[in-house]
Amino acid sequence: MAAAGTFAVCLPGSRIGSDLGKWAAVLGVLVVLAASSPAPRVAAAGTGKSFNQWVSEFRIEALAAGISAAVFDRAFRKVRPDPAIARSDVSQPEFARTIWDYLDKAVSARRVSVGRRKLRQTAATLNKLEKRFGVSRYALAAIWGVESAYGRIIGRKYVIRSLATAAYRGRRQAFGRRELLAALAMLERGDVTPGKFVGSWAGAVGQTQMLPSAYNKFAVDFDGDKRRDVWTTPGDALASAANLLRSFNWRAGEPVLHEIVLPKDFNYRLSGIDKFRPVSQWAAMGVVRARRIAFGATTRPGAVILPAGAKGPAFMIYRNFHVVRLYNKSTAYALAVGHLANRLRGDRPLVTAWPRRQKRLSIMQLRELQQRLIRRGADTGGADGRVGPKTRRAVSVFQQQADMVADGHPSPAVLERLRRDDL
Ligand code: CA
Repeated sequence: MAAAGTFAVCLPGSRIGSDLGKWAAVLGVLVVLAASSPAPRVAAAGTGKSFNQWVSEFRIEALAAGISAAVFDRAFRKVRPDPAIARSDVSQPEFARTIWDYLDKAVSARRVSVGRRKLRQTAATLNKLEKRFGVSRYALAAIWGVESAYGRIIGRKYVIRSLATAAYRGRRQAFGRRELLAALAMLERGDVTPGKFVGSWAGAVGQTQMLPSAYNKFAVDFDGDKRRDVWTTPGDALASAANLLRSFNWRAGEPVLHEIVLPKDFNYRLSGIDKFRPVSQWAAMGVVRARRIAFGATTRPGAVILPAGAKGPAFMIYRNFHVVRLYNKSTAYALAVGHLANRLRGDRPLVTAWPRRQKRLSIMQLRELQQRLIRRGADTGGADGRVGPKTRRAVSVFQQQADMVADGHPSPAVLERLRRDDL
């Protein structure tokens, strides 16, 4: 997921980045899923036990949860921890990826042209999915495109190994353990065999990259062959994603976002990912859609966001933006899905250019900025160098106090001002 100037550290884009975003994201999803199942036991972190010891202890838990010994033993045959996963878990670049680097790749010209072809090829399926789930074909195709390049890249890692590695050690043990049990349940049910059970390093499977717990709850056999095959049947993968989005209250007929142009005197304090008000109120302030296209439903709630600050493109996001964030928490991911959906529908590229030459903060500097804001009593959601909604909100409040343009963007100028004021 999960970069602008700087947007968020764990930006999706590379598969690995995408998975990082998804790990975080799915936490959101799983909060919901976990409500219907017993709370996972807290993992014994740092006990120094060997992998084999851990597996034999976990086996007891899995069998108690209803996994048969034969399925468990076959699933774990020859499984060793995956060192590549442990590495990608801790590696951190100096700079967060920028939002434009991410979008250049996620919504490339090729991604758009292939997507338009895929829309034609799967029109019959998408028609049915729109009717049955009320989810826009363009949003579904966009998720398909961003998650797996329309089914071309679905990950080759053995899911049991990936999740066992996470459950055995690392920062995500409880999460890995819960997903591992869900993955074993897929094997137990016969949804998939160990030989075909491949996914991303985070354990997300199929053409729409769902985690096993989400698969268990939402996967759909769309083509009626009695198998929920999200790996090789696009209809099954797309229907599963549509079912998940519907369960998170996707609003039929509402877009994810629109590019907008703000008036010169726009009050940036009103911007923010959760600052919704009816579109008619924004329009009354002089906010217009790019290329002066009409907004359509003006009573619909929208919020104004500026992913790269006041000097970059601005977007009106709608409630479905937050539904997409339940699929993957990263704001950049939701921007990519919303923008690609619009492009697939026929929209042209953004009218406002990204501020590509703008100086930006390193992750160390972002941490410093967050620490300085925290010392002033702000809640930035930690000092981890990741720029999420909380950091943006805290920056905006500081900018207002400092009489700067309150776009919530953590620019070098904001850090300089904080340093000066802290002297
Ligand atoms: Ca099927």
